[in-house]
Amino acid sequence: MTGIYLDNNATTRVDPLVLAEMLPLFTEQFGNPSSMHGFGAAVGGKVEWARQQVQALLGAAHDSEIVFTSGGTESDNTAILSTLEAFPKKREIITSVVEHPAVLALCEYLEKKRGYTVHRIPVDGKGNLDTDAYDRALSENVAIVSIMWANNETGTLFPVEELARKARAAGALFHTDAVQAVGKIPMRLADSAIDLLSLSGHKLHAPKGIGALYVKRGTRFRPMMRGGHQERSRRAGTENAPGIVGLGAAAELALHHMADENTRVRALRDRLERGLLAAIPNCFVTGNPDNRLPNTCNIAFEFIEGEAILLLLNEHGIAASSGSACTSGSLEPSHVMRAMGVPYTAAHGATRFSLSRDTTDAEIDTVIKVMPGIIARLRALSPYWAGAEKAPREFAPVYS
Ligand code: PLP
Repeated sequence: MTGIYLDNNATTRVDPLVLAEMLPLFTEQFGNPSSMHGFGAAVGGKVEWARQQVQALLGAAHDSEIVFTSGGTESDNTAILSTLEAFPKKREIITSVVEHPAVLALCEYLEKKRGYTVHRIPVDGKGNLDTDAYDRALSENVAIVSIMWANNETGTLFPVEELARKARAAGALFHTDAVQAVGKIPMRLADSAIDLLSLSGHKLHAPKGIGALYVKRGTRFRPMMRGGHQERSRRAGTENAPGIVGLGAAAELALHHMADENTRVRALRDRLERGLLAAIPNCFVTGNPDNRLPNTCNIAFEFIEGEAILLLLNEHGIAASSGSACTSGSLEPSHVMRAMGVPYTAAHGATRFSLSRDTTDAEIDTVIKVMPGIIARLRALSPYWAGAEKAPREFAPVYS
């Protein structure tokens, strides 16, 4: 499959260097890492090396703080369920309205079926967390705070280190879903009050189905998977050794490319954004343009449907996204757009372009070239645009 792939927040291409590290694990290095013989030991050593590679990417103090899982969803679920089991008397959870379904759906279940009180902290028009509401929700009754580091739709960053300090002062554990942030921005967990952090391999050029949960040393932990003693009894089940080795290699590469991500990729993203905003009327950036991931840009095109934009982009071999992959297909605009108060007429046309270190200048040129025609074509068919066109205006977001 060739084309221009600007949907890297959905998933990334496995880096060829990652694949090369993984391949021997499918052939001659097939041992079970727990086995007491040479076949096992060879693989066990690689698993432990991968743990150190992930530790380095996170700036964690100890490699034993890394628990390998099947991905972001499992890490999120484990962090929350473990903490609730470890602190059975605390019956409140704090999260935000813009979390990924891996957190939101679990919180809804815990609220409806298990009787927990869930505080969902709102965001403002730019997707910034309402920190006053957060301060008010914190109390000794809160077992866990689960707030994402970077939003998957807009890239907006939350001040998780500060939020974690406050949670600790209130006696709550702090978990962050950092699935979109890990590998894109520098981290130093050793110096932070973050107790638990989720990451997912397929967002940073490792394969799907592998991830990790960071558990700060000393954090009370109750496993979700019970069985063998793998991962120091924190996650039972024979290790996904090829995936783990791939994740380790991807972590090392992400560290290596971090500066590039924050300069070249950011510059490409900014050029794409400026180009589209200059060429297309009635569109605006959603989220906080001054505080977001370097690779993400989400633009709301008024009076058209994001799905239609994606179909026409696809005809040009360009892949982008509207809302998150998990919610697309529904007629409602994404919960993130609604939480920011983006008007329906614009939220429906929200389109996410997420770049990676593979993105080239020429690809950005192509998107800037074809996009105005696509938008004009769709607006020509839009009854809403027919009215709006009579009074075109520079869109000053109607939400604050
Ligand atoms: N959290 C966030 C913010 C995500 O973007 C995703 C994936 O889209 C997940 C969690 C789920 O991760 P996984 O696909 O590894 O289960």
